[in-house]
Amino acid sequence: MGYFEMVKIAILTTLRSPATRRYPAAAAKCTPISRGRVTIDPARCISCGMCMKKCPTDAICVVKDEKTWSIDRLKCVVCNCCVEQCPVHCLTMETGYTPSMTVHEGVEVIQITYVKPERPPRKEPDSKADSGTQPE
Ligand code: SF4
Ligand code: SF4
Repeated sequence: MGYFEMVKIAILTTLRSPATRRYPAAAAKCTPISRGRVTIDPARCISCGMCMKKCPTDAICVVKDEKTWSIDRLKCVVCNCCVEQCPVHCLTMETGYTPSMTVHEGVEVIQITYVKPERPPRKEPDSKADSGTQPE
């Protein structure tokens, strides 16, 4: 690289705005495919545990008996696996800005409020039709 070329690059770099952001003072730009944080709709979660099985960092814990869904935000690497695997689509990847954490705030525990709908009572078969008797 020639001397003048080097000077040109140095001057242009000095005049341009920085390529980095002053995080966390300046929030990152969010797009529709940005990954912020995982959220759950507790009214739709069926406690199947699929998200827990697929999470590569063991960030999620589902306790079916206690009806709880918990996440350790410091373990989560926002890979989106849990969101893709949930069979009832009750997990969402928020695209918004996630504030930085300086201390571990503990595991976030969410109480699942989903109630399995009752099955409608089975219809009794018509006894006349079943017995095979022909009307006279
Ligand atoms: S986004 Fe990835 S790392 Fe985070 S909880 Fe879901 S599966 Fe686990
Ligand atoms: S969040 Fe989805 S995948 Fe996880 S336990 Fe609930 S229903 Fe299953």
